[in-house]
Amino acid sequence: MSEKAFKSGFISIIGKPNVGKSTLMNALVGEKLSIITNKAQTTRHRIFGILTTEEFQMIYSDTPGVIEASYKLQESMMKFVKSSLEDADLILLVMELGEKEVNMPILEEALKSNTPTLLVINKSDQSKGSQAHDKEQFWREKYPEVEIHTVSALEKTNTDALFERIVGLLPYHPPYFPADTLTDKTERFFASEILREKIFLNYKQEIPYSCEVVIESFKEEETIIRIGALIYVERNTQKGILIGKGGQSLKKVGTEARLDMEDFFQKKVHLEIFVKVEKDWRKADRSLKQFGYLN
Ligand code: GDP
Ligand code: MG
Repeated sequence: MSEKAFKSGFISIIGKPNVGKSTLMNALVGEKLSIITNKAQTTRHRIFGILTTEEFQMIYSDTPGVIEASYKLQESMMKFVKSSLEDADLILLVMELGEKEVNMPILEEALKSNTPTLLVINKSDQSKGSQAHDKEQFWREKYPEVEIHTVSALEKTNTDALFERIVGLLPYHPPYFPADTLTDKTERFFASEILREKIFLNYKQEIPYSCEVVIESFKEEETIIRIGALIYVERNTQKGILIGKGGQSLKKVGTEARLDMEDFFQKKVHLEIFVKVEKDWRKADRSLKQFGYLN
């Protein structure tokens, strides 16, 4: 394969929270890189998933859901979305079957931009009767110039056709990353994402949103990885809920996270978790900097 014929490009996956962006990226890249839960806003950072073959390299960025910036945290998240649109060679605008309008300015911007944009209607497996077909028709009338793909990221229905279309739209360019690169994120990042996913799955209401996970130590030894994690919360009451009666809740989270980490790293993991109160971290610039949301 000559250098000239090689294709490589950046693909941004955008859309509202919970429409299935992370699931779609995982289906397209074929690895569980992005954490997936059924709560909104679990994807706070941009995540690159990179897939390289002999003919092409796809560099996906899975962005936080497009939401209105009401907290400082959410403003920072919007910056990730915007910078992701700037580098993109291709945009996958994902929405779910039930959505009826693109009323968010950033989504409209993507559709109007010069970057090729595919409209992906996800969760086709939930379609009742002709719903999926009717929905496609609805969007085709509204945006006649946009190419539409109806898929189920979860069941991998039509994702192969979407994948082939993405290959077709990639620009001719030498690879940006070495062939064995799976992601630009570190092992620490995945350890923190796994722990964060378990927090999201185990607690209700505001607890997951008031937590931030920092991996303080990550030591890989021959037969075991020793990980030290710190969970920041905003108030003492949240610390109490997180830890639970007799430490039971945190113990459950820790065990679930450790098992997933062992699966991900293919090695035995020793996980130690501490909880610390950092008042109002979501509103404070200082803390946001510390956690990597601001530059
Ligand atoms: P994101 O916030 O856009 O990244 O959404 P996620 O990928 O985290 O998915 C949110 C929820 O929707 C999870 O519970 C997924 O399992 C679910 N989901 C994603 N894709 C599909 C799909 O094709 N069909 C169905 N039924 N559920 C899906
Ligand atoms: Mg996500």
